[in-house]
This record gives sequence, C-alpha cells and structure tokens, in this order.
Amino acid sequence: MSDREILHCDLDNFFASVETFYRPELGKVPMAVCGSEEERHGIVLAKNQLAKQYGIKTAQAIWQAKQLCPSLVTVEPHYDRYVDFSRRARAIYDSYTDMVEPFGIDECWLDVTGSGLIFGSGEDIARQINRRIKEEIGITVSVGVSFNKCFSKLGSDLNKPDGVTVITRENFKDTVWGLPVQSLLWVGKSTLATLERMGIYTIGDICRTRLSALEAVLGKNGKSLYANAMGMDSSPVLRESEMPPAKSIGRSVTGSADLKSDLEVFRVLLSLSEEVSEKLRSCSLLAGGIQIHIRDSMLVTVERSIKLERPTRLAKELANEGFRLFKSNWQWHRQVRSIGIRATRLECDSSDFQLQFDYDYAKALREERIEQSVDSLRKRYGSQAVVRAALL
Ligand SMILES: [Mg+2]
Repeated sequence: MSDREILHCDLDNFFASVETFYRPELGKVPMAVCGSEEERHGIVLAKNQLAKQYGIKTAQAIWQAKQLCPSLVTVEPHYDRYVDFSRRARAIYDSYTDMVEPFGIDECWLDVTGSGLIFGSGEDIARQINRRIKEEIGITVSVGVSFNKCFSKLGSDLNKPDGVTVITRENFKDTVWGLPVQSLLWVGKSTLATLERMGIYTIGDICRTRLSALEAVLGKNGKSLYANAMGMDSSPVLRESEMPPAKSIGRSVTGSADLKSDLEVFRVLLSLSEEVSEKLRSCSLLAGGIQIHIRDSMLVTVERSIKLERPTRLAKELANEGFRLFKSNWQWHRQVRSIGIRATRLECDSSDFQLQFDYDYAKALREERIEQSVDSLRKRYGSQAVVRAALL
C-alpha cells in the first residue's frame, strides 16, 4: 500500500495578519491583538512577526508585553473577521479534498492521498494552496506535507511564515530527530518535564529509548509518543462529522485562600457552573450528570458524581445539584483548598440545531478567549481577582 499524503495548513499569526489586511500600516510596526478589556487587565491574543522578535508571547499581560517592547501597538480583536477569513481558507482546502479536519480556527489537516491524479502530488497541492491563500485571501499560510498527521503538523511550524515544508520517509530522521521533544504534537508541559528527567531532550532521543521504559513512566501515552517520533502515527484525518464529541466539560479553581463555609463553597460552585453552562450552550449540549471534586487543606481529594433526573445546562441547576452533592459528602473536618464541577453524560440538545453556525462559532471562540484570559488572571492574581457581577 502506498503512503498517505497529509497536509497541515496553519494560517500565520492569524488574528494579527487579518488586522494587518485591513490596516497595512500595522505590518511595519510591532503589533499585538489584545483582549478588549481595559488595558491593565488585557492579554495578548496574537502578535505579528516584529512583535515576536521582542519575545512577546500569547496570553502574556499587555503591561508585560509593553515592558518588552514599549513601542508595541495594540489592536482590539474582531472575531467576525476571523471567522470569515477562516471560512474562506476552508473553502480553498475543500476544493482539493473532502477530508478536511479543522484544528482550532486557523489550522486544518487535509488528506489529499486521493487527489493526486487531478491536482498533483502533496507538495504540488501545498504550493497551490500557499499561493491561493495569498492571492485570494490576502494573508499567508504555512503548510507541512508528510505521510502522517504528526509530521505534517510539525512541518508547518518549521518554515514560518509563508513556508512549505516536506517531510518524507527519506528525510525525516535528518529533519525531525534533532528537534526538541516539545515540537511533537501532544507533548505538553508535564510530559516534557517527565522526559527531561529521563534525559530525553530531542525527538531522536525518544526513538533511542526503549519502548518499555517510556511505557513504564508515561503509560499508553509512552507508546503513542514513541510511534509519533518514529513516523508511525496512523491516526486518520477526520471529517467534522466523524469527530468524537466532548465527553465532559468541567471547571475548577484553587482559591487564594481556603474556603471555610457552605456559603463560600456555593458561591464558587455557582461561578464555575456559569462557565460550564456557557460552554455547554456554545456546543449545544446538555449535562445528564454532574461530578464534583473537592480537595481539602491537607490535599486529600474527594470525587463524587450523580446522574441528573432531567438533563440541563442552566448554571443555577448545575450549581444546586453540585452543592447538594457537596453537602452529602462533606463534613467540614478541614477547609476546602480547591473545588471543581464537571458536566458529564453529555447529550445533544436537538432543539438547538437551527442555530446559525457562524454566530455560534464566533461566540464560542470569543468565550474561549475570555475564559483563557480569566484563567490567566486567576493564575496571576488568585481567584479573587475575577469575581462575577452576579456574585457581588
Ligand atoms: Mg496559526
């Protein structure tokens, strides 16, 4: 059987590029698209190439970014524009294959194995897409071409911006094995730390390690990590209709001070439930069950779940059920260090199906970004920094 031809297309500096399309002068200065709250609390959502050179990073606070680059120009985000550009890029991808798997708003995998007779090799198609995105949409895309998803994703990162990178069975050892382990898809902070403790720094190091040793510390993730590094990732490009739905949606928080009373716990559960509720709404899902976890001041964790009599996504109902679960499982021997609530047994809300896709997508994206900024604020200033208006 011949190899698959997989492309990974990643729109470069996406939000920043779209803003520059509307205001070309922004391309000549270090610029960042930032959360639209008042400047003191905003974070960097995206930055252009010039801003990158100053070490500015996504999710950084604006004041930190300005310390690195005092002349940084900040711009408010326009989510409707991003959705529009994303859809137009998608239409170009769709003209080459029906096997397109989106990954966030600015990335897609394409399986073009069957497209060769009409459009040429994977590399030919990558170059056509690279040119068309520039000519027809006015921004740039970097494309990785390879025989599996993992290497194509890695390839799109290698020659940014506006690059086409081909990783073949012949060149992957030279191209990939010298790179740091975190350039491999799904290697997050905790896996990275574990690998470094084992003296594994590059992708090649993974391949030179015994599989049993990787499995011993990383479990089944060790196996897929090894397979990915060896070029044996066989995961298929999934059409949207084939993508598995989320299994659960949860939020948790560790307070800057321990919680001491039922009232305090209820307030936090309500606040978390609002976030879970928003997320369920944006995905047109209902919760058929609830799970809570409680960690006390000695770091002992309790986890309890129930099935709901009637599926819901109302924050008040989620919070009430969560609190009932808390009351029946907590005796206040110790204070509460952290608490979380999770919507489980998710089901589709069929009454939502008429909802307009675009509207929902833009909104979901906005919420996701807001959640990110809320999370990063909480991390920086403690949970008390973000108190919902409803709770005051
Ligand atoms: Mg991108």
